[in-house]
Order: sequence, then structure tokens, then C-alpha cells
Amino acid sequence: MRLLVTGGAGFIGSNFVHYWFSQVSRLGEPFMVVLDALTYAGQEENLDPLEADVNLYFVQGDVCDRPLLDRILRHYEIDAVIHFAAESHVDRSIAGPAPFIQTNVVGTFTLLEAFRIYWEERQFPAHYRFIHVSTDEVFGSLSPESIPTTESSPYRPNSPYAASKAGSDHLVRSYHYTYGLPTIITNASNNYGPYQYPEKLVPLMILNSLLGKPLPIYGDGQQIRDWIYVEDHCEALVQILLKGIPGERYNIGGTAEIKNLALVEKLCDLIDEAAPHLPMRPCRKLITFVKDRPGHDRRYALDSSKIRDELGWAPKFPLVEGLNRTITWYMTHRAWWESLTSIPKKLY
Ligand code: NAD
Repeated sequence: MRLLVTGGAGFIGSNFVHYWFSQVSRLGEPFMVVLDALTYAGQEENLDPLEADVNLYFVQGDVCDRPLLDRILRHYEIDAVIHFAAESHVDRSIAGPAPFIQTNVVGTFTLLEAFRIYWEERQFPAHYRFIHVSTDEVFGSLSPESIPTTESSPYRPNSPYAASKAGSDHLVRSYHYTYGLPTIITNASNNYGPYQYPEKLVPLMILNSLLGKPLPIYGDGQQIRDWIYVEDHCEALVQILLKGIPGERYNIGGTAEIKNLALVEKLCDLIDEAAPHLPMRPCRKLITFVKDRPGHDRRYALDSSKIRDELGWAPKFPLVEGLNRTITWYMTHRAWWESLTSIPKKLY
């Protein structure tokens, strides 16, 4: 399969590229094109260890650039698109929603349209796929007692980020329904792991702990999220690409619901163990409560029984193991995060 991976220089995308070339080579000669605009969130260096010796081609460009998409699809004879490219940080969507509408809605539409025309020209190859990577945030906030969200739960996006992803999901759904395009939508819970830009909760808390800086917790810290180690998400996407049914959608949860404060306390304890010589130990001392994010959803939770029952996927990494791996990665990749010069001085 010849893959086009959009956003492949970002967090989940780059993990997917690494995973594909290290774990999926049993499928024959893997071939992949990564298209990424290299916004603040993407680094081509994330792919450095690979580019020299595998069939991996990097194109710097925008998913809203239709002529570029047309050229890539035809030149590389793409069979499947895995669409990660997005603006992905809720806080940024509150401060300035426009790029979210542009990339997440207009970009997804442009990519769908380019892929549809290309697929029709080639007489509708049955094995072509368009995998759209989305989020649990489109389903909105759950109460602590609610049952987890299923694939047929209603959409109730509450942030501009969630609304832009919901809009893109609806477009993808419509392209299957109207044109028969072989699309699949995935909705995953909060990811964590290597290469995550340090504005997101887990890497922010790890780096601030290592640097002895405050650990800012929004509001009362009682918001509940479900967490998935990024490698588990990548494996789910591979299973969906290979065995998923076009027109279907799959939830990808980590089965690890936890309150934000409890997650940060757990991280602190694990960092204390992993880095016993830090001057600011115990790291819990660094926790500070800050004004809540506007419209902050209280709980997300996914029911992943469909992908488990139909495709045989389940997450392999328990939360503590995934967190320990992530802490170790950030401790051993200092040059990576120190080079991110655009990290905002004030994240909250
Ligand atoms: P990220 O912000 O780390 O990476 C996004 C990548 O997309 C970056 O490399 C960026 O340069 C690229 N990009 C942005 N705009 C682009 C454009 N116009 N054209 C081409 N490339 C562009 O995001 P992530 O956390 O890796 O998320 C990837 C996808 O997974 C997103 O669609 C996100 O909505 C979804 N998702 C993320 C999570 C999570 O917890 N991180 C959970 C569920 C779903």
C-alpha cells in the first residue's frame, strides 16, 4: 500500500510513521509520502532517523493546496490517505479560531475532494482508503455517571477546536454517503508519548517538573479524560487501515479514565522516582491551580467495544507504563525539546 500521511511531522503522525516502518514492514515494501506544513507543531527532524533508508518521501506543504495534493496523489500513485494534519490545541482555538477552520475544515474538504476526483479517475479502486483521524472531543462533555460515548452518540462540540473537527468528520461522512468514497472516521481519546509538543498536558508537566517550574492545573483539576499511549493509537489505525470497513467509524480509547489532578500527581510521583536528584522534589510541591479554561469540558470517555470486537484491537500499555516510557523519552531527548524555540513563554 502506498500511503499519504498528512501531518506526519507532528506528534501522532510522526509516531505513526515510525510505527509503520518498524512494525508493519511484514506487509511488503512499505512506501509512504508525508505531507506537512511544518507549523509550530511539526518538525521534519521527527522523521530523521528514518528518511535515509526507507521509502519515505517528505513534502512540505499545506493540505489546503489543491494543485499540490493533485500532484502528490498522481505522482506517487497513492492508495490510502491517513489524515492527521490539523490545528490541535484547544487553548489556541479559543485564542484564535481562524486557523482551525482553515486547516481542519477547509483542509479536510480540499483533501477529500482531491482524493475523490483521483479515485473516480482510476475507476473506483476498492482497496483505496481515506482514514480521517479525529477526537473524542466532538462528542462534548459527559457527566461522571454517563455511559461512555459510542460511535452513534450525538455530536456536541464545545470548543472551536472540537467544532472544527466535528465539521471535518461530517464532511468525511458525507463523502462516503454521497460519493461512496471509502472513508473511515476514527475518534481517539487523549494521546501521550514521545514527540508531543510541550504545550499539551503530559509533556508540559514533565518538562516543568524537570525544570522546577510551576505545574499549572486548570480550575479544580477534577476534569476527567481517558488517556491512550500513542503507540496503541498507531496500532489501532493500522488495524483500521487493513481491516476496517469503509463508511464505518471506530472509537479508539485507552481505557484509562483519570482526573487531571490525579494524573499530574501520578506523573509527579513517577518523575520523583525516575529523577531522584531533582532539586525541587517532591514534584507535587510545584502544583498550582490557575483560572479554568472557558467552556472546559468535565469528562470525555469512549466506549471502544466496536474496534475490540470487530477488529481485535485493545490497548496494550497500562497508564503507568505509558507514562514511564514518556518520562524516559523526554529525559533522554533534551535536545529535541530544547530546540523548540517557539514554545510560548506563558502557556496558561
Ligand atoms: P499536532 O499538532 O502535534 O500535529 C499536527 C501536524 O499537522 C503538525 O505536524 C503540523 O505541522 C501539521 N499541520 C498543521 N496544519 C497543516 C496544514 N494546513 N497542512 C499540512 N500540515 C499541517 O497534532 P497531533 O496531536 O499529532 O494530532 C494529530 C491528529 O490527531 C489531529 O487531527 C488531531 O485532531 C487528532 N487527535 C489528536 C489527539 C491528541 O490527544 N493529540 C487525540 C485524538 C485525535
